[in-house]
Amino acid sequence: MSPSAEQWAAAVAAVRSAGPGDEILLICHVNPDGDALGSMLGFGLGLRRLGFTNIRATFPGDFTVPGPYQDLPGRDLLVPEEDAWSDPRLVLIFDVAGESRLGALVDRLGAPRSVVLDHHASNTGFGEVRLVDPRAAATSVVAEQLLERLGVPLDAEIAECLYVALATDTGSFKFDMTTVAVHELAARLIATGIQPGEISRRIFDSKPFGAMKLTGEVLGRAVLDPAAAGGRGMVWTYATLGDLERHAQPAYVLDTLIDPVRSVAEADVSVVVKQTGEKEWSVSLRSKGAVDVSGVAVAQGGGGHRLAAGFTGHGEAADVVDTVRRLLDDYLN
Ligand code: AMP
Ligand code: MN
Ligand code: MN
Repeated sequence: MSPSAEQWAAAVAAVRSAGPGDEILLICHVNPDGDALGSMLGFGLGLRRLGFTNIRATFPGDFTVPGPYQDLPGRDLLVPEEDAWSDPRLVLIFDVAGESRLGALVDRLGAPRSVVLDHHASNTGFGEVRLVDPRAAATSVVAEQLLERLGVPLDAEIAECLYVALATDTGSFKFDMTTVAVHELAARLIATGIQPGEISRRIFDSKPFGAMKLTGEVLGRAVLDPAAAGGRGMVWTYATLGDLERHAQPAYVLDTLIDPVRSVAEADVSVVVKQTGEKEWSVSLRSKGAVDVSGVAVAQGGGGHRLAAGFTGHGEAADVVDTVRRLLDDYLN
């Protein structure tokens, strides 16, 4: 269900309840992607245009902004979680499917006013005002609609942030969610003068040599399991902290590794298991349509969308893959 007229009105009222100098905190999910950062910073710039002066934006955990997003407009709003307002008047939350994705910042949900902007069908329902639209291709779609209702016109800086968010979450306008409305929004964003070719090169087509070599190694060990997922096939691979260290790469370079893996024609389901700690793994799941992988992710305490989801796995990489295989069989039986 898309947000109701009452919910939109409540969100506008929550933002307008803040005075110009009140502390406003924007939060997106741990290990932020293009939609998390783009929707948050684009909205933050919009608040600045409305005259708010004490805006900070943050995310929990390691304060590493992935290389492709380091030059986003509004990056001056970004602070590490230690510097987030501890007692903000208003909190806005972007692209966060569940409270576990807020880490230690979850206590900011106790702020006098809070608004959640999201598009995950698996959203667990937290926060005071919830603008959760599972039909939106990205959280930036929701953010743009709220900006419009607040009377903030699009400019090139806001548009670049929202465009990066839209382009990343639609896989460069390739996924099923890429509707007429998505292209109409993209057209309005491009009309501000932003350069889609330059932006795409920066966020999709640029990576360090070491990241390319690491990708080659991790893809080289991929396994095709044709019997998995009820015979629809599963392809999987894994990457360890040792792999990252050997190639001197930050963890975020593995975020896009799922893309070549999910292109394997013989498998409906693709899995990339990325080590984050001792016996701890960040698991990415994709389906071409036969399986609702968000069901698997939710069963493991994670979340996501029907065809793209994730969770935190424990044990050895092979154990995590076995768990996925078993849950897929349960799902299909
Ligand atoms: P990823 O594979 O990291 O690109 O994530 C795919 C989708 O699943 C995104 O929409 C994420 O927001 C969601 N997701 C990934 N990990 C989790 C998690 N631990 N909890 C909830 N949602 C997740
Ligand atoms: Mn995200
Ligand atoms: Mn998103």
